[in-house]
Amino acid sequence: MIKVELSHAEKIYSKAIEMVNKCYPMIHRLIIHDLKTEIPFQVLEENENVNGAYSPDYKLIFLCNDERSTVHTALHEIGHAVHHQLFDYKDFKLNELARSDYGKTNHREDFAEAFLMHIVHMYNNIELPIEREKQMKEILKLFSMK
Ligand SMILES: [Zn+2]
Repeated sequence: MIKVELSHAEKIYSKAIEMVNKCYPMIHRLIIHDLKTEIPFQVLEENENVNGAYSPDYKLIFLCNDERSTVHTALHEIGHAVHHQLFDYKDFKLNELARSDYGKTNHREDFAEAFLMHIVHMYNNIELPIEREKQMKEILKLFSMK
C-alpha cells in the first residue's frame, strides 16, 4: 500500500469536514466544494493577511498550506459555502451577543463565524445557552439526519 502524506491544508480541511459530518451528516452531500491550497493573488491584492477564502463562482475553498490556516479557518470557509449554496446568502439577522469582531464585517462573515463556532461547540458536545447558537441550530436542523 502506498502511504500518501497529506499536506497541511488537506489535513485541516479533512478534519473540518469530519467535524461538520459528525454534526450535520447531510451538509457535506448537498454542497459542492473543492480545495485549493493557495490563496489566489486577486484576493491577496486586496488583503495580504487573508488566510482562507471561498469563491462562490467556482465553489472553491482556498486555504494556506502552512500554519496561517487552521481547522477554524477551514470551518469558516465551509460556512461560506453552506451559506451560499444552501441559503443563497440569506441574512438571518443572528443575535449580536457573542458576535466575533470579524463577524461584525457583514452578515456573510457573521454567518461563517457563527457556523464555525457552532460546529466546534457541537462537535465537542458543548451547548451554549445563547441566542445565536440556538438560531444556528434551528437554521441547520434540516441537515442533521443521516
Ligand atoms: Zn469569511
